Amino acid sequence: NLTSRIQTAMKTLSGKGKVSETDLDETLREIRLALLEADVNLKTARNFIKQVRDKALGAKVLEGLNPSEQVVKIVNDQLTAMMGEKAVPLNKSSKIPTVIMMAGLQGAGKTTTVAKLANRLKDENHARPLLIAADVYRPAAIEQLKSLGDQLSIPVFDEGVGENPRKIVEDGLKQARENKNDYVFIDTAGRLQIDQVLMQELKDIEKMAEPDEILLTVDAMTGQNATETARGFNDALGITGVVLTKLDGDTRGGAALSIREVTGKPIKFVGEGEKVTDLDVFYPDRMASRILGMGDVLSLIEKTQKDFDEKQASEQLQKLQENTFDFNDFLEQLKQIQNMGPMEDMLKMIPGMANNPAMAQAQIGPKDFSHMEAIVYSMTPGERVDPELLTPARRRRIAAGSGRPVVDVNRLIKQFKQMRQMMYKFTNGKGGLPAGMEDM
Ligand code: GDP
Ligand code: MG
Repeated sequence: NLTSRIQTAMKTLSGKGKVSETDLDETLREIRLALLEADVNLKTARNFIKQVRDKALGAKVLEGLNPSEQVVKIVNDQLTAMMGEKAVPLNKSSKIPTVIMMAGLQGAGKTTTVAKLANRLKDENHARPLLIAADVYRPAAIEQLKSLGDQLSIPVFDEGVGENPRKIVEDGLKQARENKNDYVFIDTAGRLQIDQVLMQELKDIEKMAEPDEILLTVDAMTGQNATETARGFNDALGITGVVLTKLDGDTRGGAALSIREVTGKPIKFVGEGEKVTDLDVFYPDRMASRILGMGDVLSLIEKTQKDFDEKQASEQLQKLQENTFDFNDFLEQLKQIQNMGPMEDMLKMIPGMANNPAMAQAQIGPKDFSHMEAIVYSMTPGERVDPELLTPARRRRIAAGSGRPVVDVNRLIKQFKQMRQMMYKFTNGKGGLPAGMEDM
């Protein structure tokens, strides 16, 4: 994830002694790459980097303690600032009804979001919304809205697929005024791509309805395209806010940053699932944390691949197959694991692990590794190759030499034997290697 990338980059640099401006730029390049991977568009990423650079130099982070932590903080603050600092509520009209018109590509989540928002207003503000079904291209779209309305006991206005959308909206608004609905949501049609016909239709609806809010719904999973979509709708129609949907997927949400920068319009809500309650206010600081440090399988894989010396691994595999895996190899493995960074960080990169209570138990800190290392280093070369030599007397000697209690030495030997046995079993088993290890 971004945080650990920044820290790794800066750590490598501070290993050289003093951190220079060139070193900072090195780190900034890492950050830029990470942002691009998180779906931030190129121009936004550049802009962002420039601002972080100015701030970092201005704050003289290079001369201070923990430059990497300071850079992380600046990055976090800057992400938050660029996404707008505070949550922005829905626009509200001084007289009822407040009219909210949806816009967005097909499948982005307009209809779902209408139901989510109306339901939220009903629950929290005792609002009495009316939903207008103005997507006349697919009968299923009208049915979808009606069924959501039924489920939530929220009225839906529709005239089937026979009328043109502008007329439907006109009639729907009339009904809303008569029934004193305080909110009106206009669910509109989408297209697979932005096109003139769609934009014209939306402009016609807008002219008729004079909405207080034109909410663009964007699918966060479309990555870089999300930003282009937002730009297109904003240029052609002029939006007032954005709902970023499908953030429950493994997308990193960098689109939030670009959309805000490119359109200048606030992201107001985020969709986090298919259920009607899966909607949340957009909090820029939370999104910044997500971009910086969410569970990130890709970078875990990348990290593992980079740090795992494949040649060594295959040699070790060979040894396992011949059952000659010894403490030297064990130590080698420990080192590799250690080079990948704290176990805790590794585990946190697996989605769902960061907040998993099991994490507390699974923590293997760098200290544990160095203890294990100390024990192995206290063995004689002979003992390292042949664990059978490890008599109780020798174990006591090793304990004294490594400064660890005998129980630690015993535990390590037991772990070593278990590992060797387990590896031997599955490398020599009938089924061959387990999935994913075939080419190790
Ligand atoms: P529309 O064409 O823009 O009206 O999109 P819909 O509201 O019909 O949504 C398209 C699909 O995306 C549906 O299957 C929704 O259930 C799903 N969807 C909408 N919002 C979210 C979300 O926040 N998370 C997830 N996982 N699915 C969503
Ligand atoms: Mg729809």
